[in-house]
Amino acid sequence: MHTPILFVSLGPGDPELITLKGLKALQAADCVFCPATITRSGKQLSRSSDIVKSLGISVDHIFPFLLPMSKDRSQAFLAYDSVYADAINLYRQGRQVVIVAEGDAGFYSSIHYVYEKLQANAVPVEQIAGIPAFIASGALAGMHIVSQEEKLMVLPGNVSADELDDYLKEGFVLVIMKLSQCTQAVHQLISRSSYYAYHYFENVGTEKEYYTLNADELVEKEFPYFSLMIIRKI
Ligand code: SAH
Repeated sequence: MHTPILFVSLGPGDPELITLKGLKALQAADCVFCPATITRSGKQLSRSSDIVKSLGISVDHIFPFLLPMSKDRSQAFLAYDSVYADAINLYRQGRQVVIVAEGDAGFYSSIHYVYEKLQANAVPVEQIAGIPAFIASGALAGMHIVSQEEKLMVLPGNVSADELDDYLKEGFVLVIMKLSQCTQAVHQLISRSSYYAYHYFENVGTEKEYYTLNADELVEKEFPYFSLMIIRKI
């Protein structure tokens, strides 16, 4: 029997933040599937293939696939269905197949749909853990994200200012992923609650990495897709 199809977590952007196990899986792979997007100007972008390339993996082994970023996810699922079909074919030809995910492959990672579909069809799969963006963010800021009895809540961006306020009052430290989806709620919260520390992170682990705690700036900032916030009491 050959090795399972491996889902390798790449970490948040800095190529050095992959695990040794993930790196070895990439080095042994014949085909590494990497999601890519097309910018408005028609340029193909793939953060994951950039990471994989900078780890020394030959471009011949990199199979980029286009992932439409529209709100309507049905197009993305069509793309995943074709990755699924290609991965099975290559696997049956005896090739070592890797499918990558940014951050951790099991943490708000829609590619997990392909994992589940392979598993449901009795194709052996295995997931290799990685560093999620919020953990790398904490390190960038030198934070102790949660300590002692503190509780952590991770939210995927579909929240109101009132909800955020309630969770904070209950004593949770909050991580908000997909921050661009709740820009208004976050602006509102910052403008009315100055007694929390708002740690903002953008493009962590890349050349465009940015971190700030400056609430005056954040209260009117637009948040790009690759941004997150950690909110805790001061
Ligand atoms: N699997 C990823 C999460 C994917 S969901 C993980 O484990 O981290 C996509 C969201 O993750 C983005 O909207 C953003 O909130 C966050 N994110 C991913 N990479 C990031 C980065 N390098 N810097 C800041 N936020 C990032």
